[in-house]
Amino acid sequence: MVEKIYLTYNDVHKLCKEAAPKILADFQPQLIIAIGGGGYVPARILRSFLKQPGSPNIPIQAIGLSLYEQLPITGPSDAVAGPPDQIGTKVTRTQWLDLSSLGEIQNLVGKRILIVDEVDDTRTTLEYAVKELEKDVEEARQRLGPGAGKTQFSIFVLHNKDKPKKGALPADMMEESRYLAARTVGDVWICYPWEATDIDAHDELAKKAYSNGTS
Ligand code: 5GP
Repeated sequence: MVEKIYLTYNDVHKLCKEAAPKILADFQPQLIIAIGGGGYVPARILRSFLKQPGSPNIPIQAIGLSLYEQLPITGPSDAVAGPPDQIGTKVTRTQWLDLSSLGEIQNLVGKRILIVDEVDDTRTTLEYAVKELEKDVEEARQRLGPGAGKTQFSIFVLHNKDKPKKGALPADMMEESRYLAARTVGDVWICYPWEATDIDAHDELAKKAYSNGTS
């Protein structure tokens, strides 16, 4: 059976608190993009710790992405299913940047943008998010002309699973330490508090695992 790790809201809060000084020192984001739904709560908590006296709160934008495992089609439909290497994992956008509050997408050109999600599992979602955001911003940069600065993206996740990844992130992002995971874990299943329907029972399980030394 897959090992489960239970996190309380306090655990999530403390992981964000711990990560904030490093994010401030290395990156100083001007915009946070939370990947829904797991990135919402960490993004909001992180914002409190990133707030600088005398500066406004960092705006948070939400994007929604959904992962679909494409099932192989058998029987007569094989002809349209494509070769096996095309059968994989597909991400679709369910929500994208809200330009009514951002203004034009050009406003993101030359900015430092922090993408927040709860967990980097196969990395499929993060790869898609970074690629699509980079594509949109690069198109806007081209429209602005040669003087326009490059937008920098960085990533914060609560957990990175140490396992072979299906998705890839830009080499410069990894080389320049623009990827931060508060914790690296094995291939376990992490139960976040916002998924719990009985938060007291969830917290009990977290406490038990902690006292057994398994969390
Ligand atoms: P990916 O495989 O693209 O890195 O992750 C896709 C999504 O699967 C994550 O954003 C998250 O919603 C979900 N997911 C993957 N692993 C876990 C996990 O251990 N716990 C929970 N709660 N969700 C997970």
